[in-house]
Amino acid sequence: MSFNPKIRWKKIKKVTEEILGKPAKIHLSTALIKLIAFCDVEETGETNILISAYKCKSEEQIVAAVSHELAHIKLSEIKHLAYNLHTTEFYSEQSEILKVFEEKMNLKNLNQVITEMENQN
Ligand SMILES: [Zn+2]
Repeated sequence: MSFNPKIRWKKIKKVTEEILGKPAKIHLSTALIKLIAFCDVEETGETNILISAYKCKSEEQIVAAVSHELAHIKLSEIKHLAYNLHTTEFYSEQSEILKVFEEKMNLKNLNQVITEMENQN
């Protein structure tokens, strides 16, 4: 997969905030070496999503990683599910979020992208 210099960051942020219903900051970071992504939600509601600069190079990979974290945040806020749980319910939520990004950003096969990224770990 080649590096795509035209990553639509504003669009990714917009769709992320539509899904969450609140502002969120997305950070491309060298702090994550083994993890693909990480998120932090403060009691104030401030939401930060970190994406590994090493693992996420294409727009598809970035969107897939953001979607994974969004599924954690949504399940945590709605059902109080722990962040480390990757249950059937988690994957079904993740699929729904990936579909929203596919539709709004005209992307394809994001489920396959996230599965490949997870299997590389
Ligand atoms: Zn996870």
